[in-house]
Amino acid sequence: MRTQVAIVGAGPAGLMLSHLLHLRGVESVVIDLRSRADIEETIKAGVLEQGTVDLMTRTGLGDRMQRDGFVHHGINLAFNGGIHRIDMHDLTGGRAVTVYAQHEVLKDLIAARLAAGGDLRFGISDTAVEGLDGDRPVVRFTHEGRREEIECDFVAGCDGSRTYTRFLIPEGEIRTDFFRQYPFAWFGILAEAPPSSDELIYAHSDRGFALISTRSPSVQRLYFQCDPEANPDDWSEAQIWDEIQQRVAGAGATIKTGTIFQKAILQFRSFVCEPMQYGRLFLAGDAAHTVPPTGAKGLNLAVADVHVLDRALGAFYEAKDTGLLESYSRTVLRRVWRAQHFSWWMTSMLHRFSGATDFDLRRQIAELEMVTGSSSAARTLAENYVGLPLT
Ligand SMILES: Cc1cc2nc3c(=O)[nH]c(=O)nc-3n(C[C@H](O)[C@H](O)[C@H](O)COP(=O)(O)OP(=O)(O)OC[C@H]3O[C@@H](n4cnc5c(N)ncnc54)[C@H](O)[C@@H]3O)c2cc1C
Repeated sequence: MRTQVAIVGAGPAGLMLSHLLHLRGVESVVIDLRSRADIEETIKAGVLEQGTVDLMTRTGLGDRMQRDGFVHHGINLAFNGGIHRIDMHDLTGGRAVTVYAQHEVLKDLIAARLAAGGDLRFGISDTAVEGLDGDRPVVRFTHEGRREEIECDFVAGCDGSRTYTRFLIPEGEIRTDFFRQYPFAWFGILAEAPPSSDELIYAHSDRGFALISTRSPSVQRLYFQCDPEANPDDWSEAQIWDEIQQRVAGAGATIKTGTIFQKAILQFRSFVCEPMQYGRLFLAGDAAHTVPPTGAKGLNLAVADVHVLDRALGAFYEAKDTGLLESYSRTVLRRVWRAQHFSWWMTSMLHRFSGATDFDLRRQIAELEMVTGSSSAARTLAENYVGLPLT
């Protein structure tokens, strides 16, 4: 098999890259360890920045998102006995976020690629990449019992946080990893229930943080800060609903309960690897960076990376110009670090840290009062939350 770009991973990064390349006439093959059904059914992220929404619409992926997604013009910060709305729409000159589940985005991308005759290989195993320092790298994998080989010009490492491709960049000599582990985690549930709020609620409380969010009119995504060692099986449904309710009760919110169909502990980590390229390999998305979910940036950063990579590959194929490819890592890392900062800031403002004193709690309240009371501080949050424009 021969293609121009071999893409390892059919998540948002890999599939969006394949879609964008196709629109400019560049061929790709996408491979993934998981089955199509697994990819299309796993519920993960759901908050799309304005730039992600605009890109999907502009490239013909917007129909279902516009029909089934929910545009949120604001978010709520609950603290100190009240709920304070940040009007993102007004503060950013008309920008907003859209709640549309990641697996629905992936369904749209897969459908678009298959309709255009795209080559997607699901359920593969034993991925191996060689020849990154030459101009004909090779990707090998096993598919339907046969060993296959793709010869290509470039390899895109879009294989998520359990990446294989990142480790192809020699550590130390070339690659530096930046890592932070937070001393808490999120207990996340998916529940069949009506929404408790028209817009997301980020709640600061004496018992710790909670996030009231949604995936659709009948499926709700709720989180509360917990011990990283917590075991979801130790918590009954009643205890979970009670804990979430207690974290928002002080602010006057009431949670609508229902049947919980998924419970999971989400570890809190910040990670960035630099550089995000090596020879003919370019990393994108979680393969190169992860953010704590507080800022809802993971999926959006994956899309922003491949938006830049698509243009760089386009310049190479259309004009033999390698400038954008050479500066790829430098370009995307600026946004990555901005998102790291925003996610860390939201996390540190809203969570209860072990050993936090009354001083720390009062300082957090003062910060939240500044963010909700000053239009310039509120605008900083709003601009970052709806996302910086895609460059
Ligand atoms: C519970 C949860 C909630 C989240 N909420 C949000 C949110 O609200 N907003 C937000 O923006 N982000 C959120 N995120 C993060 C977001 O889901 C990720 O940042 C996003 O999926 C990253 O996309 P990706 O394409 O880089 O990687 P992934 O989606 O992880 O895709 C990588 C793909 O590569 C495949 N793969 C791995 N190894 C190989 C290999 N060796 N060979 C071939 N294929 C391979 C995997 O099977 C996978 O399909 C959340 C994540 C989780 C887990």
